[in-house]
Amino acid sequence: MNEINDTVCAVSTPPAAGGISVIRISGEKAIDIAAKIFQPFGGEKVADMKGHTCVYGKVVYGGERLDDALLTVFREPKSYTGENVAEISCHGGVYLTKRVLRACIESGAKPAAAGEFTKRAFLNGKMSLTQAESVMELISASGESALRSANGVKEGRLFRQINEACQKLLSLLADLAAWNDYPDEDIPAVEQGSMETALNEVSSALEGILLTYDSGRIFRNGCDTAIVGKPNVGKSTLMNMLLGYRRSIVTDIAGTTRDVIEESAEVGGVLLRLSDTAGIHTAGDEVESVGVDLAQGKLENCELALAVFDSSQPLDGDDRQIIDSLRGKNCIIVLNKTDLGVSVDKSEFAEFPLVVEVSAKNESGMEALENAVVNALGLREFDPQNALFANERQKACAAQALKYTQAAGEALTCGETLDAVTILIDKAADCLMELTGEKVTDAVVEQVFSRFCVGK
Ligand code: GDP
Repeated sequence: MNEINDTVCAVSTPPAAGGISVIRISGEKAIDIAAKIFQPFGGEKVADMKGHTCVYGKVVYGGERLDDALLTVFREPKSYTGENVAEISCHGGVYLTKRVLRACIESGAKPAAAGEFTKRAFLNGKMSLTQAESVMELISASGESALRSANGVKEGRLFRQINEACQKLLSLLADLAAWNDYPDEDIPAVEQGSMETALNEVSSALEGILLTYDSGRIFRNGCDTAIVGKPNVGKSTLMNMLLGYRRSIVTDIAGTTRDVIEESAEVGGVLLRLSDTAGIHTAGDEVESVGVDLAQGKLENCELALAVFDSSQPLDGDDRQIIDSLRGKNCIIVLNKTDLGVSVDKSEFAEFPLVVEVSAKNESGMEALENAVVNALGLREFDPQNALFANERQKACAAQALKYTQAAGEALTCGETLDAVTILIDKAADCLMELTGEKVTDAVVEQVFSRFCVGK
């Protein structure tokens, strides 16, 4: 484990042959260490270089010229990590890069641990915890080169929304605390109605945020989708249409038996993992015997159901049974075989917001289906920039905050003491601050006094 005051170094580009490789050194002694191994051709002194400047020169170690390279210097706090940073951009080559790295280490830098530059950036207040997490996830997803591109990641709307919700809670706490702790100061009593309103606002904001997390997860990992319907309505044909539309992706699922094949199709920009038992691997007789049961079983576990009906026929008992089992599910009603004329009574589907008409055979209606998928998964308003990196920790914090906010609202309505309400709001704010990585107590104190007009 490196100490925060150690100077650390690492290759910040992927360990592969390429045009250039970047060796990054960060810490108090970064520039001194660079000065030991880097000699500018123009005779400049590395130790005197200003921040955000770059020189051309050679990397020399142990009397040996290792490479011609560029040296970029950043002076604290204006760097990625907030510390002094020196970056040597040398010719890309695994062996050469390692030699330069070794020269840095032998000149006094310690090898950086995984994610250490970003951890330092967080510890030095250069980015929030959520930002640091997004960088970390980027790195683990696609190698260290992503770190550079992630450097520019701005605080997304999601973070701002959380911050806003948090500020509202803190503001309530500040009101409550000021009123409670300084009874002589003539501070107006906290009004129950406005507190309820504020708590409701926070609750709905958090609910929205949690939905975004789900959308983010679906966006990243895809969505388990079941195609259900009684036999012969065209489930297999629909599945084939989806698979054939754009490029279908067939993946072996890692960690499962090799013969489990998942068929996925990109629909409306989302990866739908279509269950392969929807018909394509099932023999006709079997379909007859298990039809509706199978549909119901599958409905239990999916995140989205595409419920297929033959629009050229009136609904029968089996169809109605399926409709019953769709209630409360995230589903899209797919009225298939529209090329045969529509005889089904559409008012039977009035309770379902998403009904699309397609002809799987003629591959028509795909656009409507795509739109319905986007709507069903709440991706209409979803900006991948915002939630793409959201993780389970953040989601758990937001969910917990929502629970406490709702409980605070209920406590208020039930006439519980303001002390009890305060504790719940405090816990909710705590969760949100844990999400963003701030400290609740300091922030509350700050809020109290910023509105209290100290000095009086
Ligand atoms: P499943 O049992 O629900 O999987 O249904 P299939 O996909 O096997 O389709 C049953 C029959 O309906 C087949 O003969 C298909 O060619 C036909 N079919 C499927 N979709 C359409 C469609 O959109 N229009 C027409 N006219 N026939 C279709």
